[in-house]
Amino acid sequence: MEQKEGQLLDVGLELLAAGQDLARKLEVDVCGVLLGDGVERLTSQVFEAGADKVYLIDDPVLKNYRTETYMKAVGDLVRKYKPEIFLYGATSNGKDLASAVATDVLCGLTADTTLMDVDIDKRLFEASRPAFGGNIMATILCKKHRPQMATVRPKVIRRLLAEPGRTGEVIEEKVSMREEDLKTKVIEIVKNTKKAVNLEEAEIIVAAGKGIKDAKGFAMAAELAEAMNATLGASRDVVEAGLCGHERQVGQTGATVTPKVYVAIGISGAIQHLVGMQNAELIVAINSDKDAPIFQAAHYGICADAFTVVPMLTKAFREALNTTESVAEQEETEGVTHSG
Ligand SMILES: Cc1cc2nc3c(=O)[nH]c(=O)nc-3n(C[C@H](O)[C@H](O)[C@H](O)COP(=O)(O)OP(=O)(O)OC[C@H]3O[C@@H](n4cnc5c(N)ncnc54)[C@H](O)[C@@H]3O)c2cc1C
Repeated sequence: MEQKEGQLLDVGLELLAAGQDLARKLEVDVCGVLLGDGVERLTSQVFEAGADKVYLIDDPVLKNYRTETYMKAVGDLVRKYKPEIFLYGATSNGKDLASAVATDVLCGLTADTTLMDVDIDKRLFEASRPAFGGNIMATILCKKHRPQMATVRPKVIRRLLAEPGRTGEVIEEKVSMREEDLKTKVIEIVKNTKKAVNLEEAEIIVAAGKGIKDAKGFAMAAELAEAMNATLGASRDVVEAGLCGHERQVGQTGATVTPKVYVAIGISGAIQHLVGMQNAELIVAINSDKDAPIFQAAHYGICADAFTVVPMLTKAFREALNTTESVAEQEETEGVTHSG
């Protein structure tokens, strides 16, 4: 259960939903592991999100994430309680921790899993993820070593509705580490003051693909995003063309998003893009090629030239939502770069 500054990240709660499904099939408990300083108060939230048990280590040495301390704490838990399956969120810290624990307890690890199941008879965890550039889905098994571990991308699993008042067993453990013996120290946490692009949490996304052609086309997509009060996303080709930063990329090597509305402008619908956005509630595709694969994933398709349709949509949304023309301001605060 990853927490940051005493707040649980959604990805841990999503993992409990996946864990409940796997645990039901294997007839075992689903458990949350909660590490930190002053985090005991979060246990109720973990139970309400679906855990039967919570392994809690509440200690000042675990205040901030450090590979050294977290690996030791989790490694000791794994050796003592011997879980069959252990899931981590595929966040920066989750990926770091999972790979460190895998080397510590000598087991395998499947990275960036998007689908999970179990072979009940063999009690084998089936972790699937895109492979070979996204052209196939590979199902990875860990037959000989335990636990069977995987990192799971945020937003690929829908979390369960919280059950208020649901409780379970808290198993409290201690750590033997002392701050003075540790090699790494957290001296200061410097926060990025630049307004972050948070595609994962966005409810409406307007995403620009190579069909927008250049900086002028990208600004056109940005204007629609602003008129719709949406977050601006992009395909990898647009990022690689230098029209915006990687933080806006949607897809296999970018963000996985589940907005209420996803507007794809001039995006062909390559599998590597689709895996990042196909769970959006409503997908609207604007593309001049009627055979573009994006139309297979879209709920609404507009087969037309984006340079005609997008300004019309922007005007209509501005009138309907009373949004103003301050693209320059948005670009300045969100860090959109133009190359020409
Ligand atoms: C390992 C790997 C990882 C990858 N990860 C990602 C990833 O995370 N995200 C990602 O997006 N891609 C990723 N890719 C790249 C992916 O395969 C595609 O190359 C990319 O998604 C294509 O981007 P695009 O749709 O913008 O461009 P294109 O495929 O070039 O499509 C442009 C579309 O615009 C349309 N168009 C052209 N002009 C107009 C117009 N005037 N009006 C309307 N439509 C127009 C065209 O019909 C076309 O469908 C990855 C590839 C690999 C191998």
